[in-house]
Amino acid sequence: MTMLQVVRAVAAQLGIAPGRCRHCLERQAETSLGLCNHCAGAFAPRTGGYCSRCGEVFALADEPPRLCSACLHRPPPFSATFLYGVYDGALQETIIQYKYHGRHSVERLLQGLLLQAYAGGRTRLAGPWPAHDCVVPMPLHPGRLRERGFNQSLELARPLAAAHRIPLLAQGLARSRATAPQAGFSRVQRQENVRDAFTVPRSALLAGQRVLLVDDVMTTGATAAAAAWACLQAGAARVDCCVLARA
Ligand SMILES: [Zn+2]
Ligand SMILES: [Zn+2]
Repeated sequence: MTMLQVVRAVAAQLGIAPGRCRHCLERQAETSLGLCNHCAGAFAPRTGGYCSRCGEVFALADEPPRLCSACLHRPPPFSATFLYGVYDGALQETIIQYKYHGRHSVERLLQGLLLQAYAGGRTRLAGPWPAHDCVVPMPLHPGRLRERGFNQSLELARPLAAAHRIPLLAQGLARSRATAPQAGFSRVQRQENVRDAFTVPRSALLAGQRVLLVDDVMTTGATAAAAAWACLQAGAARVDCCVLARA
């Protein structure tokens, strides 16, 4: 490797390689998300076939979003879900690298995807859309925050809140207790696991507010439902969710 190649490789790893694809770091970025044309295909957004309320993917991608049968009968406490894609493939890998392997060079890519999730959702889901009054990131339990060093939901939410000039309430929600990882639990177990897991430290901040709750991944919606419920109990007028990926 020449010195120039070494400098380029290090810069790319740090996410400071101008003009390079934010995913492969090799080819030139060619899309508005900062991806090369090759990688852009792996990050195509999900534009349909999911529930407009809970985000569950239940139909073909070319069908417009509509309510799933669960939401028709027992709707969750949040009113809509904006999502970028399904939690698999390149999107899943990138989120895992960011959260668990400290690959911060993909942060801008994921932040860009979240911006598109919000913009795309507002166009696709039946409106008219209220303006959101505040953005609230899904909190991590303090123990997990110490372990990871950052709250991915908060970092993802920053540019979204800034772009739409919506106040970001980093401490809008708090975890009142640690919860076991949801993987492997049944639907009922998941609901039990997260019941009363959230508190609103200053309820006056959420009173009457239309809240946009931001998380990286929504699995069954049980965690989002518990968080939304805490916001509504604190007086929020409405809660919508915005996530990168829906499992
Ligand atoms: Zn690429
Ligand atoms: Zn649904």
